[in-house]
Amino acid sequence: MSVIGEEEEPVRKVEYVGNVKTKEIHHLMNSLYACQIWQMKEDDKVLFYTLEEAKKALEEDGYNGCRHCLSEYHKD
Ligand SMILES: [Zn+2]
Repeated sequence: MSVIGEEEEPVRKVEYVGNVKTKEIHHLMNSLYACQIWQMKEDDKVLFYTLEEAKKALEEDGYNGCRHCLSEYHKD
């Protein structure tokens, strides 16, 4: 039996990964082989835990949504 107490940490799951080189953000849940996330160097990755964080980068840091997995935020 697990007890939810104050020592329990909220689980923060990485949902979006940005590439600092290509300035693209991928939605891990929808990512495809074509996203080539597996090719990204660890140093080139920016992790986002929520859509809000990802959106902030899209709006303020010049990131673009991946056309494969985050097409609703993809702009040409
Ligand atoms: Zn993608």
